[in-house]
Amino acid sequence: MKTLEQRILQEGKAINRDVLKVDMFLNHQVDVKLMYEIGAEFKRLFEDKGITRVVTIEASGIAPAAMTALQMDLPLVILKKSHSVILSTGTIQTEVYSFTKQSTYNLTLNSAYIKTGDRVLLIDDFLANGEAALGASRLIEQAGAKVAGIGIVICKSFQPGLKKLREMGYAVEPLANIAEMDKDFVRFVKE
Ligand code: 5GP
Repeated sequence: MKTLEQRILQEGKAINRDVLKVDMFLNHQVDVKLMYEIGAEFKRLFEDKGITRVVTIEASGIAPAAMTALQMDLPLVILKKSHSVILSTGTIQTEVYSFTKQSTYNLTLNSAYIKTGDRVLLIDDFLANGEAALGASRLIEQAGAKVAGIGIVICKSFQPGLKKLREMGYAVEPLANIAEMDKDFVRFVKE
């Protein structure tokens, strides 16, 4: 998605070879018009997949996922990051390791919000090692639903997540796909 790539080049900051900061339009301040365009692009990419529900992970996935749900006229479910292992009735959990935060959290879902037979479009802001997307997919499948597509705003394909998820058979679509980056440059994968 050209407008997204331009924003990354103009405003993004690679703080090293692994971590990109996009706090000015995606992770802290949010450009809602850009999120609306992102939602329209995910709709275009996934509208033939029979999606019944959009699912994301709090917190940075919420803005692009909400706009996707709005564009597709579908319900949105937010998976919660919890540090507690005390579960209330109907709640399911899976452990996820975050390389960026170097810590573990429990991804949590009240299974009332995802039904058996649902076809889920999973949306997240970044794909790096794939741990968050894999954890979310485990929960969605545990709830009896199918992950019919995974929409990623920014993928760093020099990290293993994209390859891992595609090898497992998931239909993953990144809107911006970074081949390589460092302090003063970002290079995208050529389509
Ligand atoms: P993964 O589980 O694929 O390694 O990482 C995915 C999660 O880590 C995303 O949901 C995102 O919150 C965070 N993340 C991974 N890489 C980056 C990055 O370069 N920049 C930012 N801002 N977040 C990242």
